[in-house]
Amino acid sequence: MSGSRARGPVIPERIRSLTPYKPGRPIEEVERELGIRGSIKLASNENPLGPSPLALAALTDALAGVHRYPDGGAVVLTEKLAARLGVDPRRIVLGNGSNEVLELACRLFAGPGDEVLFSADAFLVYQLVSIAVGATPVKAPPHGFEHDLDALAERLTPSTRVVFVANPNNPTGTIFRRREWETFLARVPEDVVVVLDEAYFEFVDDELYPDGIAYLDRHPGLVVTRTFSKIHGLAGLRIGYGVTSLEIADAMARLRQPFNVNLLAQVAATAALDDEAHVEASKALVRESRQRWSSAFARLGLDAVPTHANFVLVRTGAGAAVTDALLHRGVIVRPMDAYGFRDHVRITFGTADEDERAIAALEAVLGNATAGGPAAARAR
Ligand SMILES: *Cc1c(COP(=O)(O)O)cnc(C)c1O
Repeated sequence: MSGSRARGPVIPERIRSLTPYKPGRPIEEVERELGIRGSIKLASNENPLGPSPLALAALTDALAGVHRYPDGGAVVLTEKLAARLGVDPRRIVLGNGSNEVLELACRLFAGPGDEVLFSADAFLVYQLVSIAVGATPVKAPPHGFEHDLDALAERLTPSTRVVFVANPNNPTGTIFRRREWETFLARVPEDVVVVLDEAYFEFVDDELYPDGIAYLDRHPGLVVTRTFSKIHGLAGLRIGYGVTSLEIADAMARLRQPFNVNLLAQVAATAALDDEAHVEASKALVRESRQRWSSAFARLGLDAVPTHANFVLVRTGAGAAVTDALLHRGVIVRPMDAYGFRDHVRITFGTADEDERAIAALEAVLGNATAGGPAAARAR
């Protein structure tokens, strides 16, 4: 209507059409909705052993101090990480989860008219942060369930500002190896930022897996991100980091909020770094789980993507229906519709007991499928 005005500020179209990130469902929410108890959550790649006991003790000691602002420079944690990684502390950027560092890379380098490149099967957050800054997300086709680094390199244009790669990738659990990575990195122009997301690097056993930190001096735009959310079991506190050039780290430090990493997160992460026993136990558990699930899939005749992380993507058929049926049996997994894997679910490895329960539930659900369960739902 002529002369009429929108009521209130106009939300930009790119934000209105943005599909929000759909996290794994909290146990409490599912149980309230279904009226069940004793559920297990294998949906968000968390550590089933919980947080490090050293981190818990440090948190307890720190609680009475939360009326104070945290150290804005997180000096204690940064120095400790730097020593551990063998890098200059000024090259480390801490974030409210490594997700914040992914976002900072986009805010710093990309805007309207710029392209942000990633594999079509990559972690959804890359798309979200690109759209949030008004840049154009560009997706390269994967090779099966793996990033195709050649296909990514071929899609670099003069407008490409940032490339995201995940190693291992979520939700596929796949990795790329040194040769592929080195060939790719050499093809990326020096003024393009390469974000190498290593959220699951601790779980990888492959000898040819490249350690991103070792490549920092080979490409001036490399940002390697890691997190305390996965192996360290601190997802609820939100803390991760990036390691990059002095220049990029300095720019990110200007852009971030002054107290982006809270006091408890700093304290817990610092203590968790010392907890070798917890890290080793967590790795061992994941190795056992990989075996356990792989045998179960073989027995059930299911195709799973070979995984290098603490979760597995498996083809069950009718992923959403299978997820729902498992939910009713007290097992929370993740449907993969958002990634276009409609026939798959992603299952996070649990403790031995949790795995066994989940395997039994999956077997029951898929057994029912022939009697009108999820397979019938797929036909609807
Ligand atoms: C879990 C995950 C992260 C970590 O996110 P945080 O913000 O550190 O909790 C980053 N990248 C990928 C691919 C992940 O799966």
